[in-house]
Amino acid sequence: MKVFYAGLTPTPALQLYVRDKGFDVGVMVTASHNPPEYSGLKVVMSDGIEAPRDVEESIEEIYYELTFRRITWTALGYDVKVVDDVNDYYVSKVLEKVDREVISKKGLKVVIDCANNVGSLTTPHVLRGLGVKVLTLNCDISHIPYRNPEPTPENLVDLVSVVRSVGADLGVAHDGDADRAIFVDCIGRVLQGDRSALMLCDHILNNKKLGIPKKVVTAVSSSTVVEEVLSRYGVEVIWTRVGSINIARTMMREGSLLGFEENGGFMYGIHQYVRDGAMATALMLEYIAYSGLTLHQLYDKLPKMYVVKTKVGVDPRDRDVVFEKLKMRLLEVFSGGRVIDVDGVKFIASDYWFLVRPSGTEPLIRIYVEARDEVLANKVLNNILTLANEVGMK
Ligand code: MG
Repeated sequence: MKVFYAGLTPTPALQLYVRDKGFDVGVMVTASHNPPEYSGLKVVMSDGIEAPRDVEESIEEIYYELTFRRITWTALGYDVKVVDDVNDYYVSKVLEKVDREVISKKGLKVVIDCANNVGSLTTPHVLRGLGVKVLTLNCDISHIPYRNPEPTPENLVDLVSVVRSVGADLGVAHDGDADRAIFVDCIGRVLQGDRSALMLCDHILNNKKLGIPKKVVTAVSSSTVVEEVLSRYGVEVIWTRVGSINIARTMMREGSLLGFEENGGFMYGIHQYVRDGAMATALMLEYIAYSGLTLHQLYDKLPKMYVVKTKVGVDPRDRDVVFEKLKMRLLEVFSGGRVIDVDGVKFIASDYWFLVRPSGTEPLIRIYVEARDEVLANKVLNNILTLANEVGMK
């Protein structure tokens, strides 16, 4: 194989480069949203999308069974060429896809928090290219991360306080490899990723005039608010299993150009079928510029739901059996709603919905409930917990 070294770069930048420059495969070394000691490999196929699970499994097999040829260290490395335009190429391609003129006229002030990681090399340049006043936070890539790379509200306390104290229009936080973007409004609210994605869908479907089938793909972990809002103008929401690759492949199959996860991963098919933090950021600024409203006002237009969540432990050896029992009981007790069971059980009623799903990585069942008010949310959660206890979970 001919090997090219792309240097420090966000995952979506590598993905775009692999696809556009005709590479057969790309490999990203990153811990993504995890602390740096959890670094792993993301393998990217020639279309820029992550390798499917069966390809990953065959790579793991080669690795663990040592079925590869060994060479001496002196034979290694001579053929590695450096490609030094990955980040520049990416920045220019993101900028191409939004209305720079309209955005720059708004004179927005944005704080960008890259968790001292590779997003620092691209997103501040995208923002400057859009004529935005940029304030950087945690964008010194030579420093170990000042915050946990996962852009959850508890990890974005500094970003919230900087956004508020400097009077910024909004804040943006990436995870370690900058495929996710989480937004903070001017009063310091950290927007849930499915809500901000819904706003982006609203913008793209109404303002970008793509002439595309009106389909949006998201995982079952996203809120039904997505469906509530998008169905108003005839958009079909397709629910998939959790995992960005399921979303990407479903988008391609269904001819959809929009997909997202509730964790801040947004896919704009016109650009590429992968999560892309800088692209999501540029689109959000375009939405603000086109609408003439603030992020805060746009967010307040969405239906409000009250959220409660918890997890229950389960013996990993009989996780699947116990989960099936719980699923049966849930479907007996909760009726009159819609059931989606591509991944766990999602139940959708008129004034609440819940998702009960085994964790992919821990001996846990996760329970997530959203309802119109707090009392109903807690009532639904307690009913689920009672059933979970009945089938032997604690
Ligand atoms: Mg990531």
